[in-house]
Amino acid sequence: PMSECLFCKIRQGEIPADIIFENDDVLAFNDVNPQAPVHLLIIPKKHISTVNDMVDDDQLIMGKLFSAARAIAKQKGVSDDGYRLVVNCNEKAGQTVFHIHMHMLADRALTWPPG
Ligand code: 5GP
Ligand code: ZN
Repeated sequence: PMSECLFCKIRQGEIPADIIFENDDVLAFNDVNPQAPVHLLIIPKKHISTVNDMVDDDQLIMGKLFSAARAIAKQKGVSDDGYRLVVNCNEKAGQTVFHIHMHMLADRALTWPPG
């Protein structure tokens, strides 16, 4: 856990967030600046800064983000209509918070390619 990390602070309850899902390894909460009617962030409780910083043991944890996404999509009723999962890595991709997170966007038509 990094003392200066925004998402570690959310995990520790030091900064409030609308928690949507939680288990031993994963936390999901609404994005504060939503880009779609459903826009939440799914994070590992373990601090990992970027995809580049994953170690081999982190494969399992990152797989659990997908399992959480699947459960959340079902709960939100967007499984069949569809949703987008995005992980940005470093500046050119637009990563601004350096604790790995999976965006889940849903409930509107999303264009491709992204900007
Ligand atoms: P990135 O650009 O790093 O992939 O995504 C970071 C996301 O975190 C952005 O969509 C941004 O709106 C969101 N965000 C930034 N600060 C906060 C915060 O304090 N609370 C919540 N819930 N989301 C945040
Ligand atoms: Zn962190």
